[in-house]
Amino acid sequence: MPPLSLGPAIARARQLCGNAEVWAILRFDQDNDRMEVYWSERTVAGAQTPDGAGGFRHYGTHAESVMIHGFAQALADHGAPRVAEIFLSRSPCSTSPLITVGGVQYPEGCASKLILLANQNPGIQFNVFYRNLYAGNPANPDPALRARSSAAVMMMNSCPNLEAGPLEDGLLVNP
Ligand SMILES: [Zn+2]
Repeated sequence: MPPLSLGPAIARARQLCGNAEVWAILRFDQDNDRMEVYWSERTVAGAQTPDGAGGFRHYGTHAESVMIHGFAQALADHGAPRVAEIFLSRSPCSTSPLITVGGVQYPEGCASKLILLANQNPGIQFNVFYRNLYAGNPANPDPALRARSSAAVMMMNSCPNLEAGPLEDGLLVNP
C-alpha cells in the first residue's frame, strides 16, 4: 500500500490523536517516500501494529523517544539525509525519562534527547516543527510546564544543526 504523503499523514495523526496520545513524523530530505510515523500510542486502536497507511506504528511513551529508538532503522531503510524533518503534535518536553539506545544514554526530556540525537548526527540538519507548545495534559495545561517548554525550544535552537519552531500547515514543503 502506498504510504501517505506528509500532509495527509499529519491530518490522519491529528485525527487519531487524543489528549494522552502524541505522534512524531520523521521525513528525510522532504521526500514523502522516506518518511516514518511514530506514536506514543497508549490508547489508539491497533497499537503496536503495522497500520498499512502511515507507516509502522511504533509503540512507546513519548513519541520522540519512540522516534529515537527507530532512528537507526530509518537511516538503514531510507539512507542518511541531509535534512531530517521531525513533525510533532506537541513541542519536545523537558520531563521524559532517560533512555538508552544503541549504547547511547539519552538524557531526561525530549528536547535534550533531540539535541543529543543532533550531536550524534552532525552531518544532518534537524528541523523540528510542533503543533502545540507542550504544557502537560491539554485538558488541564500547566503554565510552569509551558514555560519550561519555551525554554526547551530556545535550548534546541542553540544547537548548531537543530532548529525548532511551530508547525504551520500552509508552510509545509511538499505536503
Ligand atoms: Zn517528551
